[in-house]
Amino acid sequence: MLYIVGHKNPDTDSICSSIVLSHFLDAIPARLGDLNPESEFILKRFGVMEPELITSAEGKELILVDHSEKSQSLEDIDKGRIIGIIDHHKVGITTSEPIIYIAKPLGSTATIVGELYFKGMMEFIGGKNRELKGDLAGLLLSAIISDTVLFKSPTTTNTDKDIAERLAKIAGIEDINAYGMEILKAKSTVGSMKPEEIVNLDYKEFNFNGKKIGIGQVEVIDINEIESKKEEIYSVLEEKINKGYDLILFLITDIMKEGSEVLVLGNREAFERTFNVELKDKSIFLEGVMSRKKQVVPPLERYYKNK
Ligand code: MG
Ligand code: MG
Ligand code: MG
Repeated sequence: MLYIVGHKNPDTDSICSSIVLSHFLDAIPARLGDLNPESEFILKRFGVMEPELITSAEGKELILVDHSEKSQSLEDIDKGRIIGIIDHHKVGITTSEPIIYIAKPLGSTATIVGELYFKGMMEFIGGKNRELKGDLAGLLLSAIISDTVLFKSPTTTNTDKDIAERLAKIAGIEDINAYGMEILKAKSTVGSMKPEEIVNLDYKEFNFNGKKIGIGQVEVIDINEIESKKEEIYSVLEEKINKGYDLILFLITDIMKEGSEVLVLGNREAFERTFNVELKDKSIFLEGVMSRKKQVVPPLERYYKNK
């Protein structure tokens, strides 16, 4: 059976892309962890069931969405058979067999799924050119809004905006901005979450030149919502750092200020050199930095490669 699955610590893009693609590919939508409050809000809003939780790849055919790095996938991913990847991150895998690989530098995987649909290309990736109904269009729209932080993230492209508008029409959403603010508010229920939950909400692991790096992120409308929890978040990360990490970063991204407060643990020099800053404290505010994928991962990986 074919499963379509997003990354660990699933976000809205992983969840919604897996659900919508499954509709076209007769596959089972799957997830690798609990839904975050934002995704919960969105699935409820459109009355769609959550994907199935899976814990092993054994005996499964898989299409990965919204990631390609093994460190972000099932622990035993090698026991399954990856037949495809649809993603908007850097290429993070080599495979022993030929696979379907569709990746574009767009704001979300959902944008690619939307584009495949509007271009009538579902058959091209082994699916059927079925209709996209309002509820599923709403999921894709929500994922685009979430990943691009309502089109504010520097990862946003004109294609994201264009596909979002077309999806909004199908979903019957007249005011994308007003709906986007609803989503961002659902995101910012973090104020009432435990620090461990906040850390794991959107935490990703990377391997840069043999070194294990962890980068977490939380997006808030106002940093003050979370300011009082900064110390506790730092303590949670301190427990993690000894588990083989060279560096852990945690980005508290302020959507309105358009920048991120970055907590830094471990190899502080790597961080300082990469971002050309001097760390005087446990954290530093980086103006304009909103995207892990585009503004944090590439320079950091370059640093580790050239060291
Ligand atoms: Mg994602
Ligand atoms: Mg994504
Ligand atoms: Mg994100």
